[in-house]
Amino acid sequence: MNDQSPPPMPGCRDVPVLRERGQREVFCGLTGIIWLHRKMQDAFFLVVGSRTCAHLLQSAAGVMIFAEPRFGTAILEETDLAGMADAQDELDREVARLLARRPDIRQLFLVGSCPSEVIKLDLAKAAERMSAAHAPNVRVINYSGSGIETTFTQGEDACLAAMVPVLPETDARELVLVGALPDVVEQQAVGLLEAMGIGPIRVLPAPRKADDLGLGANTVFALTQPFLGDTHAALERRGARHIPAPFPFGEEGTTAWLQAIATEFDVAPDLFERVTAAPRARARKAVAQAAEGLDGKSVFFFPDSQLEVPLARFLTRECGMTAIEVGTPYLHRDLMGPDMDLMVQGPVFSEGQDVDMQLDRCRAARPDLTVCGLGLANPLEAEGLTTKWAIELVFTPVHFYEQAGDLAGLFSRPLRRRAVLKLDAAQPPAARAEARR
Ligand code: SF4
Repeated sequence: MNDQSPPPMPGCRDVPVLRERGQREVFCGLTGIIWLHRKMQDAFFLVVGSRTCAHLLQSAAGVMIFAEPRFGTAILEETDLAGMADAQDELDREVARLLARRPDIRQLFLVGSCPSEVIKLDLAKAAERMSAAHAPNVRVINYSGSGIETTFTQGEDACLAAMVPVLPETDARELVLVGALPDVVEQQAVGLLEAMGIGPIRVLPAPRKADDLGLGANTVFALTQPFLGDTHAALERRGARHIPAPFPFGEEGTTAWLQAIATEFDVAPDLFERVTAAPRARARKAVAQAAEGLDGKSVFFFPDSQLEVPLARFLTRECGMTAIEVGTPYLHRDLMGPDMDLMVQGPVFSEGQDVDMQLDRCRAARPDLTVCGLGLANPLEAEGLTTKWAIELVFTPVHFYEQAGDLAGLFSRPLRRRAVLKLDAAQPPAARAEARR
């Protein structure tokens, strides 16, 4: 038989993007404090906000903190919001009290919120004043975690971008890995790179202020998270050079990311092969096992975590899925380009959101799996669609070879669960009761 159908078009870097600017369903950037405070062991995050911000932090943390916590909220009262009290004076007093009680704090982040932005509280000026008052022991930096125009992973980007200008100058040729990863995952990446003879390797954020890295024209950096657009720009302003690469999700993404760094450092191909062969084989096997049930299924991404493009690349290329729509809050082509180059044309790429219109497209497409935020997941499940919460992908270790199988498992589990529930519902009550015993 002569198949006349045209071959699939490779590469999505230049495909047209559907841009929407309507109502959005997202979490705010304060959420990032939950993982950032674990990475920076001598930092304290002081949100200057309302009781709502304090509640969001507590519920996102999901635990009662019995030890001294490393984040808190300076609550703006009605008198502050009405301009009847000098919020800057109060903030100075609160910070002085906090630092006197907690000499372990070396970096204090003043985190802006919707209320502090509405009353135009100048946290940059406050940070400058406090840095002068508490130097050299404590460095005070401000950034915004406000939810007005952001999505939840932007909190980390804003935090790291705010740190870049205060880092010292260096002429040393160093590699900086940028992005807050769980320690064990970070160590895996550093271990593989060091085994290829690459170094010195620094990480941003550093675990402590004393471990600060320097930046300069000889610094090269690799991003581990796709949502670090502002940090990328801030690093380039300091003269550092980005190593573009697909993001290290799955076996293929991890290999391509490592290869880009290895090429920059002239690592011999046989050394690269020796270092990566065994973990690559493990990753391939783990993905094949965990992705059972994903092959041939369709996926629809709502914009949420900013991980959507590299994850769509992983699911379509390594797990056999078809992407219907890849929605992302911001499509930074310089950062996403290497992932989009690997994807076959077909999916709609959308940036921003008009939630009602996107819901209509999703309902019409009836994807096998929908990746979305918490607010949309329950209603869509009630309509019979299978969903995956995007926020879980940020809270779970999913980067590099050893986590590749877990990453595939995060997507196959909801499909398996729905299949089991369907089977269960189809059984007569007696058989159901017997099966549950
Ligand atoms: S920063 Fe804004 S969106 Fe976030 S919890 Fe506070 S008020 Fe709500």
